[in-house]
Amino acid sequence: MSDSVKYLLGEQDIPKSWYNINADLPVPLPPVLHPGTLQPIGPADLAPIFPMAVIMQEVSVEREIEIPEPVRAVYRQWRPSPLYRARRLEQALGTPARIYYKYEGVSPAGSHKPNTAIPQAFYNKEEGVKRIATETGAGQWGSSLALAGAFFGLEIDVFMVKVSFQQKPYRRAFMETFGARCIASPSDTTEAGRAILAQNPNSTGSLGIAISEAVEMAARRDDTKYALGSVLNHVLLHQTVIGLEAQKQMEMAGDYPDMVIGCTGGGSNFAGIAFPFLGERLREGRNTEFVAVEPSACPTLTKGLFAYDFGDTAHLTPLVKMYTLGSGFVPPGFHAGGLRYHGMAPQISHLAALGYIKPRSYHQTECFAAGVQFARAEGIIPAPEANHAVKATIDEALKCKEEGVSKALLFNLCGHGHFDMQAYSDYVAGKLVDQAYDESEVAMALAGLPSVG
Ligand SMILES: *Cc1c(COP(=O)(O)O)cnc(C)c1O
Repeated sequence: MSDSVKYLLGEQDIPKSWYNINADLPVPLPPVLHPGTLQPIGPADLAPIFPMAVIMQEVSVEREIEIPEPVRAVYRQWRPSPLYRARRLEQALGTPARIYYKYEGVSPAGSHKPNTAIPQAFYNKEEGVKRIATETGAGQWGSSLALAGAFFGLEIDVFMVKVSFQQKPYRRAFMETFGARCIASPSDTTEAGRAILAQNPNSTGSLGIAISEAVEMAARRDDTKYALGSVLNHVLLHQTVIGLEAQKQMEMAGDYPDMVIGCTGGGSNFAGIAFPFLGERLREGRNTEFVAVEPSACPTLTKGLFAYDFGDTAHLTPLVKMYTLGSGFVPPGFHAGGLRYHGMAPQISHLAALGYIKPRSYHQTECFAAGVQFARAEGIIPAPEANHAVKATIDEALKCKEEGVSKALLFNLCGHGHFDMQAYSDYVAGKLVDQAYDESEVAMALAGLPSVG
């Protein structure tokens, strides 16, 4: 059996700047609109909920944005992350494909999310903010912001989607260990939460609802801002450390990806690995393919509409043009909690609409089967979200075998599954079912899209 190969960088290889794909877009992003006036918003409109440094990154078209030294100092705790050539998996599949994966599970929270939690906490601290309110789906984002809050001395309030709060008690314990407060959403602590509970006391919650609660809390208090763990331009920007390191590591391997693969919830880990390579395609005309993988039970890119919509359920956020299943859509409670969002990052939506990103979807049981196969070959148990990328990679590798071609496949192993063992137990016990999303509910949610001229 041939051993898998690990490509390691030194601390000096931690990127000094993030890569901003806005500089290289062939067509600029559609403007973000004010929910009341439907006019494009400016930085001042976002000032009540985000620090100015973050807002300026949100609208920047500079290609390179410097990473502050205190952020790089924290990144050093786990970055650069390793990139592996999955030789054992290749052998198990009998594929001529060259499979590479970047492993973000080495962070203290076990996923890619600290890559943006750290700079967001840093910029808030710099601007005198005392407290950050946020939402979390599966718990990874709340864990990451809790960690960042501990590093930078900020209070963190996390609204956690109720179904995950119940399924994942250790995520809550993790956040509380770092000093954060964790509240099951919908909760009775906000108007948005109370409105949902009045309609449906048994609501299992959704990211859209939890976002409404966190935004409301940030808007209500002067010393409190809001932070989002995905979707927005600045979040995707911060995640590009993944792809920038991977570029150097692929160079060490003497290879270049023919295909870059990532799972997509709001789009940040996918953007993190893909955008630096996609920038090369946009600037230099390379023909690398980019595959975004989502759950069939929440098929935003494959079944949604490309339209202006709200980011949250209570309609407190600005309107962004994105692929969406409608802000009123509540996906079924499947196990990849991080992929249960009704929308998709505007940058990813835009690039998918232009044809640069190819979406596809899989059901959860086939993703767990792929994750188990990966774990047995490579020794790492992927997060349920990451299993979607693993499944697509294995499918592509088997296609290479069928066609007798050797492609370089690079995927992002965005997190480990150590907090998700209940899901693996259910899978092994044959208790996982593939839930279809409710088409009539999506149709209803899409019918409620705001009408924009
Ligand atoms: C949050 C999360 C996701 C989904 O968010 P993206 O912004 O699409 O990356 C996927 N995988 C893991 C491990 C996560 O923590």
